[in-house]
Amino acid sequence: MIQENITLVEQKIADACREAGRKCQEVSLIAVSKTKPVSLLQEAYDAGARDFGENKVQELLDKIPQLPKDIRWHLIGHLQRNKVKSIVGKTALIHSVDSLRLAEEISRESVKQQVETDILIEVNVAEEESKFGVSISDAQALVEQIAVLPGVHIQGLMTVAPNVENAEENRIIFRKLKELSVDIAKKNIDNVNMNVLSMGMTGDYAVAVQEGATCVRVGTGIFGQRDYTKRQSEQFQAAERHGI
Ligand SMILES: *Cc1c(COP(=O)(O)O)cnc(C)c1O
Repeated sequence: MIQENITLVEQKIADACREAGRKCQEVSLIAVSKTKPVSLLQEAYDAGARDFGENKVQELLDKIPQLPKDIRWHLIGHLQRNKVKSIVGKTALIHSVDSLRLAEEISRESVKQQVETDILIEVNVAEEESKFGVSISDAQALVEQIAVLPGVHIQGLMTVAPNVENAEENRIIFRKLKELSVDIAKKNIDNVNMNVLSMGMTGDYAVAVQEGATCVRVGTGIFGQRDYTKRQSEQFQAAERHGI
């Protein structure tokens, strides 16, 4: 099942690349495995997946030791400053940096632990109130402030587009993120790369690839629907067992 899903997603990525005149090696597929058990991640690994995305620090830390060492782990969810200490050195890429204070914490911990941390700047292109990310108009200033920090390296931009019925509605969002990355790249800021454009999820990754995504984050399209109700009731039961 997972193997077939991955093959299908890869085919659609290849089609989108062809339509846009891009090479499909330019696009990497991140299997978003949040809430899924390690047995399913192993299945995806066996089908060839090497990039996995998680949105919670603790879940990521729990999964790492249970899976092969050559997996590249992506933190794609909001990161709290008090969790930075435990995540630094564990990720290939942190996609969700949207403030100077967070970047400073990542820098401080990276220097302390003598690692180099690659990050993306999360941009709230659609300016949705419910979403994290810096606005387009504030993005460049933030990039410039973060660029001078030791131990952290900006590799590009990321956005979470709105949840829409028709993926075409998000084309403008992806186009704007691409334009922003081109604008920032033109400034040739020291210690800043704009090589990575992380955009597109199950509902809209083909459009994102047509608009220049180098990294698509696909969960449902690989692992199926996430069952939050079951998860919540498990957590509730665990909390009850612990008397909290
Ligand atoms: C969950 C999640 C995804 C994957 O969403 P699907 O619609 O299941 O593909 C992608 N990016 C982020 C930031 C996510 O939290």
